[in-house]
Amino acid sequence: MNISRSTYLYNRARNVIPSGVNSPVRAFKSVGGTPLFIKKASGSILTDEDDNEYIDLIASWGPMILGHANPKIAEAINNKVEYSTSFGAPTEIEIAIAELITKMAPNIDKIRMVNSGTEACMSAIRLARGYTGRDKFIKFDGCYHGHSDSFLIKAGSGASTFGVPNSPGVTKGTANDTLTARYNDLEDVARLLEENKGEVAAIILEPVCGNMGCVLPKEGFLEGIRELCDKYELLLIFDEVMTGFRLAQGGAQEYFGINADLVTYGKVIGGGMPVGAFGGREEIMNYLSPDGPVYQAGTLSGNPIAMIAGYTMLKELYQNPQIYEGLAEKTTYLAEGLERVFSESIYDYRINHIGSMINVFFVDVDVVDFDTASQNNSELFGKFFHAMLNRGVYLPPSPYESYFLANSLSYEQLDHIINATIESLARMKFD
Ligand SMILES: *Cc1c(COP(=O)(O)O)cnc(C)c1O
Repeated sequence: MNISRSTYLYNRARNVIPSGVNSPVRAFKSVGGTPLFIKKASGSILTDEDDNEYIDLIASWGPMILGHANPKIAEAINNKVEYSTSFGAPTEIEIAIAELITKMAPNIDKIRMVNSGTEACMSAIRLARGYTGRDKFIKFDGCYHGHSDSFLIKAGSGASTFGVPNSPGVTKGTANDTLTARYNDLEDVARLLEENKGEVAAIILEPVCGNMGCVLPKEGFLEGIRELCDKYELLLIFDEVMTGFRLAQGGAQEYFGINADLVTYGKVIGGGMPVGAFGGREEIMNYLSPDGPVYQAGTLSGNPIAMIAGYTMLKELYQNPQIYEGLAEKTTYLAEGLERVFSESIYDYRINHIGSMINVFFVDVDVVDFDTASQNNSELFGKFFHAMLNRGVYLPPSPYESYFLANSLSYEQLDHIINATIESLARMKFD
């Protein structure tokens, strides 16, 4: 029997890589089936190892906001690579990207580069703790801040303020310092702050969530969080790993007009290379080593190839701010198209979208937090995912992930997605 090359590669991968993948969502566990192995991509078209083509709505989980194989980014990387790929010593390109970021993003006096969003969030929390001299922090159920221990904590049961580990290997001791609140619920945050007065260093959140599907902050929520941070004299950390340079040039801070004290970045910032960063007000950032007492380091941080890719990406966005309007128009067009199609179907649904982030939930409630996001019918989602894949549309293979639009998407491709949705919804009840 002939098996597909993706199936062959998946079987081969499983022998030597846990679950065959280097990051869990890629394994298609929540939608079933065999993951596709990707050979190449250009613009918004992915080509798998069997030469099937798909319209890409993942955009590498965000970074590919200009589309794949952007010629300027590719050229910049190619030109730089001959000068060696790493020195472990300072380079000029690190200054150039830092200067550009401080111009693009509000409230960033200084920024330090790391290698992933996980590192950025982990370091920002350490810095907030070091700066305030307090141990605890508040995060929200359904927000994702990478896989470092102190974020892999869920709320304890009942009225308990103690968190519990979300994964074996995370200690109870770690869980005691992570408090979890309900997204879009200011009272829940106020309660935690009262119960832990003088102990909370920071509140960290995704100003727009993309990791429980796309969930928007309710009006007044972010403002309320800012006020609570001021009242209790703690730091507000915006995790802009997804929204940074995507929602607007200056990310969610610019989009909503709210100042965070520290901001974390990832995804778009690296132009597809492994880059993260965290930045903020000067007096906080000066707490970092070696001038300051809070330790933080990285052998490959500020890597020249990663920096030239990120710099070229950010410069494109900086010089062409109309990209953001174009992306928002495309997303609205897709949202309206999907709204038409779903409203004529037999399925309950909600569509959340903002900027270039969107997704469809199979639910009959408004999705505003993790509880409502969890009502997403994962069986229907799995069928929808495969029906769309069969029609050449690659959605995120998980009901808990936002779709990301890239500026390379054409209106023809958006129409293809809408038409594929009509066919998929009609077909699903037979699958
Ligand atoms: C992806 C993501 C992270 C983690 O970034 P990695 O580069 O995967 O470590 C952190 N926060 C948010 C909001 C993210 O979307």
